[in-house]
Amino acid sequence: MKQLKSLSVPHHKNTAYMPARRMDVPAFVNIPMSMNIGPPSKPVVSAGKTVKVGQLIAEAGGYVGAPIHSSVSGKVKKIGTTVNSMGQYVPLITIETDGLQEPYEGLAPPDVHDFKSFIQAVADCGAVGLGGASFPTMVKLNIKSLDQCEVIIVNAAECEPYNTSDTSTLFERGDEVFEGILLLKKYMQAKQIIIAIEDINTRNIESFKERIRTSGVSGVELRILPSTYPQGAEKVLIYNTTGRIVMEGKLPIDAGAIVINCTTLAVIAHYIRTGMPLVEKTVTVDGSAVKEPANIIAPIGTALRDLYNACGGFKEEPKKVLYGGPMMGIAVPDLDQPVLKSTNATLAFNEKDARIPEQTACIRCGKCIDVCPFNLMPVELYNACENRNCDMLRKLKVNLCMECGCCAYVCPAKRELVESNKLGKALVRADDAKKKAAVEEAAARAAAKAEAEQAEGESTGKEPSGTEKNSSAGGRILFLPRRKDKKRR
Ligand code: SF4
Ligand code: SF4
Repeated sequence: MKQLKSLSVPHHKNTAYMPARRMDVPAFVNIPMSMNIGPPSKPVVSAGKTVKVGQLIAEAGGYVGAPIHSSVSGKVKKIGTTVNSMGQYVPLITIETDGLQEPYEGLAPPDVHDFKSFIQAVADCGAVGLGGASFPTMVKLNIKSLDQCEVIIVNAAECEPYNTSDTSTLFERGDEVFEGILLLKKYMQAKQIIIAIEDINTRNIESFKERIRTSGVSGVELRILPSTYPQGAEKVLIYNTTGRIVMEGKLPIDAGAIVINCTTLAVIAHYIRTGMPLVEKTVTVDGSAVKEPANIIAPIGTALRDLYNACGGFKEEPKKVLYGGPMMGIAVPDLDQPVLKSTNATLAFNEKDARIPEQTACIRCGKCIDVCPFNLMPVELYNACENRNCDMLRKLKVNLCMECGCCAYVCPAKRELVESNKLGKALVRADDAKKKAAVEEAAARAAAKAEAEQAEGESTGKEPSGTEKNSSAGGRILFLPRRKDKKRR
C-alpha cells in the first residue's frame, strides 16, 4: 500500500524487550488534575483523607474529560496547584504514601454486556490516549452509530526513537492487549481490526501472529509497516494501513476509522476483568545521561527524579530532560514533574546531546518540503510566521501541522520550524478570536442602537429609522422588527 512521506531515523530502542521493572513506592505522588485534553478533573477527596489504590480521587471535569484514581495507598497531604511543563497552572493532589499499596475495597469488575455498558466501563477506568494524545478514550469510542466504524486500527507502531513502553506492554501484557481487541470486536462490532506494527518489532509480530491464529477470530489482521517516522501518527497510520484520508477539520471516524493505542487497550481489558482502573504506567527511562536505561512501572504522579533514581541515577549531569521522545518530546523544567497518564518515556541527555545547533540562513534547499508527510511548506510557513501574516498562515494550512518534527530534523540550516509552526497556530487562534470578538461587538452595538431607536420611537410616537415599510432605499426592506405594543395591520 502507498505510504506517506516519512524519515528513517536511528531507532535507539535500547530497552526493547527488557523486562519492565516495578519501582519501589515513592514517598509522595503529585497527581495533576489535567492529564487529558478537555477540562481538568474535579477532586472528590480532601486533605487528610486516607485513600487506597484505585480509589476515585477526582471525577471527570466534563464530557471530554476523565476521572482520576489514586495510584497509591496513603493519606491526601494537600490539594493545591502546580505549574506544569507547558507553564500552565493546574490543580494537583499530593498523596503521602504508606508503602502498603493496598487496593481499594470497593473495586469490582464492571458489568459489561453491551455497547453502552462497555463505553461506561471505558469512561470509568479513566483511560485516555496513552500514546501521548491524552484524548479521553470514551469520547473516541462513543460513536453515534456502530455502522460509522468500518475499521479499528490498534496503534502498536511505536515510531519515536528510544520509546519502548508499548513494545514492553505488547510483550509482557500481550494477552490483555488481545483481550482488548476481542472486546472491541464484540461491543464495537468492528468489521475489521488492524494491528499496526513496525517491522523491527519482530518478537511481538510473532506472538501476535500466534494469538490471531489460535483464537480463530475473523476480521483481525496484523499489518507490518516499515519502521519509519512518524509511522504512529494517527492520520499517517490511517492512510498507511487503509488508504483512507481524514479530511481537514474532520475526525478519523468521518473516514470510517478509529485508532486506539495498544496500551490503552490493555488498560481497558484489565479494568473490565479486575475492576482496577488506570493507576500506573510503564515508562521508558533512557538517554545518554542515564546510568541504567530501563522500562519502569511507576505509579501515576511519581516524580521523574524517583524514576531516574530507580535507574541508578545519572552517569553525567543531565542538560536536557524530556517528557516523551526526541522528535516530539517536551523539555521539562525540573525533575519534580510527575509521571502523567500519557507519559510513555522520559529521556535525559548529556551536554553533547542536549546542545542546540546554531540556526543559520535558509539556503532554499526545499528538503523540509520534500519530507513533510502532509505536503506542507515549512519554509514558507516559517516566513509567514516571521511576518505575522495570519492570512498566509491559514492559506498554507498551518493548522494541519502535526508537529512531527521531520522538517526540522532534515533542515541543514537547523531552522526552528516546529516552534515556528506552534507559534503560527497560536497567532491564527489569537487572530480568529480577535475577529470573532469584533463581529460580536459590532452585532451588540447594532442591537443596542436598534433598541435605543425603538425606545425613542415609542416615546415620540415616530417609527424608528429604517423600519418604514416602504423604505426609500432602492425599494429594499431594510428592517421590519415586530412591534411588541402594536398589532400589525
Ligand atoms: S512538523 Fe509540520 S510542517 Fe514539519 S514535517 Fe511535520 S507536519 Fe510537516
Ligand atoms: S530545509 Fe531548511 S534550509 Fe532547506 S528550505 Fe527548508 S528551511 Fe530552508
